[in-house]
Amino acid sequence: MLKILKNRMEQGYRTSPYPKEGITLPERYRGRPEVNAKAPSHLVKRCVESCPQQAIDGKNLRIDMGRCVFCGDCERISEGKFVTFTRDFGISVAEKAHLLTDGGLPELAAHSKKHFKKLFGRSLQLRQVSAAGCNACEADLNVLATPFFDLARFGINFVASPRHADGIVVTGPVSRNMRTALLQTFEAVPSPRVVIAVGSCALSGGPFRGSPEVSEGLDSILPVDLFIPGCPPHPLTNLHALLNYFK
Ligand code: SF4
Ligand code: SF4
Repeated sequence: MLKILKNRMEQGYRTSPYPKEGITLPERYRGRPEVNAKAPSHLVKRCVESCPQQAIDGKNLRIDMGRCVFCGDCERISEGKFVTFTRDFGISVAEKAHLLTDGGLPELAAHSKKHFKKLFGRSLQLRQVSAAGCNACEADLNVLATPFFDLARFGINFVASPRHADGIVVTGPVSRNMRTALLQTFEAVPSPRVVIAVGSCALSGGPFRGSPEVSEGLDSILPVDLFIPGCPPHPLTNLHALLNYFK
């Protein structure tokens, strides 16, 4: 027992100072993409053709963050002359159209539904539904419950039953086999309820886009309130989205 107490004392306070203080992610992290509108057209063409997700709109020079898996190929191919990835992890949006970006994003808090802030600002209970995700999105949501992120300090918790939840957080491309379970979980959540799509799969089908076995995005099945891009989204992207949309 003494050993445990000593260990605990030595460890000290391990919870992240975010959001009270800023946090800088390592250089290799790929966050909000920025597009250089003056990039040579041959570089733009090469990036468009190489993108595994058809996420680059070469005409309007935009990146669809709903499709993008943040592989970094476009940055590598263009040597940063067309696309660069910043370390900004606050990339979630409330309107699907805002996923198509040249680097500018609207302030998330400004697009939050007012009654959501009033109802859920101090207590938000969420049920996670993995609708055929690969488990990476799920793992980076789970980690929010660890002492470092300590999601519960903001009054946000993941709960076991949809009947105890205020909304659902969906990961995965919603396979045909998961569709009924997802809809039944959604129906079990009492209204008013929120729907949060996490990860490229839930936003657009992700790497599985185009397969007849998956949906073209959660919003083709349910009304989505919050879109969180990434493959998987960084835990701080998830945290930033929840805090800015509901608090
Ligand atoms: S980072 Fe995104 S936009 Fe760039 S090539 Fe990869 S999937 Fe396409
Ligand atoms: S978005 Fe990427 S990390 Fe998340 S479930 Fe799909 S493939 Fe996995």
